Amino acid sequence: MKRRDLLRCLSGTLLLSLPAMAVFAQDGGKRYPVEKTDAEWKRILTPEQYYVTRQKGTERAFAGKYLNNKEKGMYRCVCCGNELFHSDAKFDSGTGWPSFSRPVSGRNIEEIKDTSYGMNRTELVCSRCGAHLGHLYTDVPGKPRYSVNSAALQFEKGH
Ligand SMILES: [Zn+2]
Repeated sequence: MKRRDLLRCLSGTLLLSLPAMAVFAQDGGKRYPVEKTDAEWKRILTPEQYYVTRQKGTERAFAGKYLNNKEKGMYRCVCCGNELFHSDAKFDSGTGWPSFSRPVSGRNIEEIKDTSYGMNRTELVCSRCGAHLGHLYTDVPGKPRYSVNSAALQFEKGH
C-alpha cells in the first residue's frame, strides 16, 4: 500500500470519530486567542497549509520547503505569526522533517498527548491559534526532538 493511500485510509477512520470529538470540544473545548472559521482559514492558507495545520495532516517526508534551510532567523506559525522556533535550535535529524531541540518559549506551544494511530506521541499545537504543528519525540533521553511540518511554518530571515 502506498503511503498516500494509507494516510487516506487512516483519515477516513478519523472522520468516523469526529462526532465524539465535537461533543468533547463543546464540553471542555479549548479556546484560542486567534480563532477563525474553516472558510476563513481556507481563504488565507494554501491547501497543504490548511491540511497540515487545521486537519492535523503531515507533509511528505523530505518534501517540506524548510527541511534544509540553514539560514538564521525565526520560524513563525503560518496561521497567526506566533514565534515558535529559532534557527539556533534547528538540527538535521535525518527524519525528513524540520527538527528543533527546543521552542522559543514553552508558552508559545501547547503539548497534547496523542494516542492516534496506536502510537504514544505528544502533539505540538500553536498556543495562539490551535494550529497543528507536528509532534514532540522524547525517545532519545535528554534530547527532545520537536518534529515540525514546513507547511505549518513561516520563516523570517534575520535576528
Ligand atoms: Zn498560530
